[in-house]
Amino acid sequence: MSSASPFGQRWAQELSERQAQGLYRRPRVLEQRAGVRARLSGRDCLVFCSNDYLGLADHPEVAAALAQSATACGTGSGAAHLISGHHPEHEALEAELAEAVGRPRALLFSTGYMANMGVINALTEPGDVVFEDALNHASLLDGGWLSRGRMQRYAHADVAALETAMTAAPGPALIVTDAVFSMDGDLAPLPALAALAARRQALLVVDDAHGFGVLGDGAGAVAHCGLAEADVPVYVGTLGKALGTFGAFVAGSETLIEYLVQRARTYIYTTAPPPALAAATRTALALARRDGWRRARLTELILRFRAGAERLGLPLMASATPIQPLLVGDATRAMALGARLLEAGYWVTPIRPPTVPAGTARLRITLSAAHTPEQVDGLVEALGHCWDRRA
Ligand SMILES: *Cc1c(COP(=O)(O)O)cnc(C)c1O
Repeated sequence: MSSASPFGQRWAQELSERQAQGLYRRPRVLEQRAGVRARLSGRDCLVFCSNDYLGLADHPEVAAALAQSATACGTGSGAAHLISGHHPEHEALEAELAEAVGRPRALLFSTGYMANMGVINALTEPGDVVFEDALNHASLLDGGWLSRGRMQRYAHADVAALETAMTAAPGPALIVTDAVFSMDGDLAPLPALAALAARRQALLVVDDAHGFGVLGDGAGAVAHCGLAEADVPVYVGTLGKALGTFGAFVAGSETLIEYLVQRARTYIYTTAPPPALAAATRTALALARRDGWRRARLTELILRFRAGAERLGLPLMASATPIQPLLVGDATRAMALGARLLEAGYWVTPIRPPTVPAGTARLRITLSAAHTPEQVDGLVEALGHCWDRRA
């Protein structure tokens, strides 16, 4: 399209505004990777901003499972699950995921984004209210907006505010929350939300993208909080983070899953993921469940990072998870800090609005079982140096 067209002008204006505000984004090419080591723009660095919490994303056994399955049954599933794309590897993975999170059934989705949109849409009717935490992931918010129900956000983790809002809007309601907030690392008040949902006969939907595989001995944040299916009837987990592969699942009762199969449009009207991917995820799931040492190491690194950052007076947030953001505030300053860290050999992509609220740009540091204590110490030292030099 010519840049003189009204649309071209609109795009050019928005792009230059974003540039002026320090909000312009572009993907960086990760040229090589071995564990947490990567090459970025020709420079070797350590990655401290991936969601590969257990270090499984380049595990040789997982890669071998992918390759073997692709050789045996090809790359594409060939069709949607309900046409002819549902393979034995999908079936087996669904059973294993259900077992891992202690639910009767699980249903695979191509991505967490699609799972969240599909589930919220499928479970709402006109007249329902979808209550969502203000800091929920974009996919949950989009699911609420696109649903047949009315979307209403409540202040972050504020169960009292939610109860007040629910009292003012009686009738069928969903309560939808991240389990571990993706940009903050804090845990939702799941027991209080479950109790409120029970009192109000509301349906609690929990997205455990960052808890599954990490918390609760790998079973996730819901198990970590001592809750089960009766408390959290709709559980969403993703496979691209701790499991190091790709995809997502919803787990719950037999009836819930059968209902989703009939109603979830992002399950029905899309090609099933490659069966080889399901085979790889089965291997990753087995490793994640077996290797308790990965979680133990992660916990040690989290404590080590926080102790080091606290010693330097860095602005830690209230997080006990591998997501350890440092609040910067100004987007341009966050970008400058990110650039300085990269010069020192540490890759931490700054997170800016609109991903986070205005004025809360941050360095979202994430830790992995694949990091060594020395690498974490090196990051802390570099942070101290970069922060001191801050304008
Ligand atoms: C990453 C993420 C998703 C999306 O999952 P994908 O599989 O990457 O699409 C959903 N919810 C939360 C909280 C996330 O962090």
